[in-house]
Amino acid sequence: MAKLRQLVAGNWKMNGTAASLAEIDAVMAGIGNARCDVAICPPATLIAQAVWKSKGSALMIGGQDCHPKASGAHTGDVSAEMIADAGGKLVIVGHSERRADHGEGDALVRAKAEAGWRAGLLVVLCIGETEAQRKSGETNAVLSGQLAGSVPDGATAQNLVVAYEPVWAIGTGLTASSDDIAAAHAHIRARLAERFGDGAKAIRILYGGSVKPGNAAEILGLDDVDGALVGGASLKAADFLAIVAAAV
Ligand code: PEP
Repeated sequence: MAKLRQLVAGNWKMNGTAASLAEIDAVMAGIGNARCDVAICPPATLIAQAVWKSKGSALMIGGQDCHPKASGAHTGDVSAEMIADAGGKLVIVGHSERRADHGEGDALVRAKAEAGWRAGLLVVLCIGETEAQRKSGETNAVLSGQLAGSVPDGATAQNLVVAYEPVWAIGTGLTASSDDIAAAHAHIRARLAERFGDGAKAIRILYGGSVKPGNAAEILGLDDVDGALVGGASLKAADFLAIVAAAV
């Protein structure tokens, strides 16, 4: 099958102040001829300004998380509707840092994904195994379980992107081997096809975990890798643009 149009999405995590918006300017200036879709998910405080800056450009801005509800007494939380209202086009849910730091389980991630859809956002749903799970041969079972538990019914290529992010490769400088990435992506593709049929062939599956300019071309060239979710290397426009340029 022909390659899907790839998506390279940056996750700034809890990094970035108004001064960092200069990186958005630089990314916008560099993606004129990009072969892929490009997105940046800055912290919630910068979404509206980043959207304002990127008006008229192909760069999509998104959130890093959302609450399942549209509004209410949930101090400190941001809803999917608020992200959409600020001009965001996508939202990350189920990131392993949220699963670990905030004890988020599959049922909550599923509710957040549904909230993203309710608000009209593209949902980037993260799954991935820990180092201990990989070492004990549980990777496929973990991925199957997370997909079954956290992806809502009704997933399509228009509303869902799955990000395979081995937890042990996030922010550590360690990258999964090409064989391991290809095997995990094939497994995810097969599970999506079982549940969503032929339409699942067009659901993009991103790899995330220490993607850098130096390894992006190899990773993005693998079968069933339809883009990258990039943390640390998305903070500097030059590094991020080098990854965007490696898209196939
Ligand atoms: C991430 O946060 O989704 C991620 C992949 O981080 P890093 O690229 O820094 O490993």
